Amino acid sequence: MECIFCKIAAKKIPSTIVKETDRLVVIKDISPQSPTHLLVIPKAHFATILDCDDRNIMGEMLSVAKEAAKEAGVDKKGFRLVINTNEEGGQTVFHLHMHLMAGRHLDGKMG
Ligand code: 5GP
Ligand code: ZN
Repeated sequence: MECIFCKIAAKKIPSTIVKETDRLVVIKDISPQSPTHLLVIPKAHFATILDCDDRNIMGEMLSVAKEAAKEAGVDKKGFRLVINTNEEGGQTVFHLHMHLMAGRHLDGKMG
């Protein structure tokens, strides 16, 4: 198993898991870009969102992100959900994941 997020989801390498369901983990980003910076990661491997046709897992990513935002106490002030995709989208880890960022004013630019 080469993929770093597969290893994280399988707990073969450590991470700070803040939430877990049967099919997803939510971890703290190792290099946070905002005071709250979480990653919603399916346990199953999809390289990018383009490789995922599972509407249930895509829906669950959004549901779990909303719950994680509430649990982190950032829902009222606001947060940002982002799925970087392929090179120009800024994707660096090729295992599908959604960023949940909050805790500072995020300007209109995405990068
Ligand atoms: P991408 O650029 O692919 O959208 O986002 C990848 C994210 O994964 C980056 O924000 C990066 O900091 C984070 N990341 C990369 N490797 C690790 C790791 O080993 N552990 C954790 N917790 N986050 C990681
Ligand atoms: Zn993977």
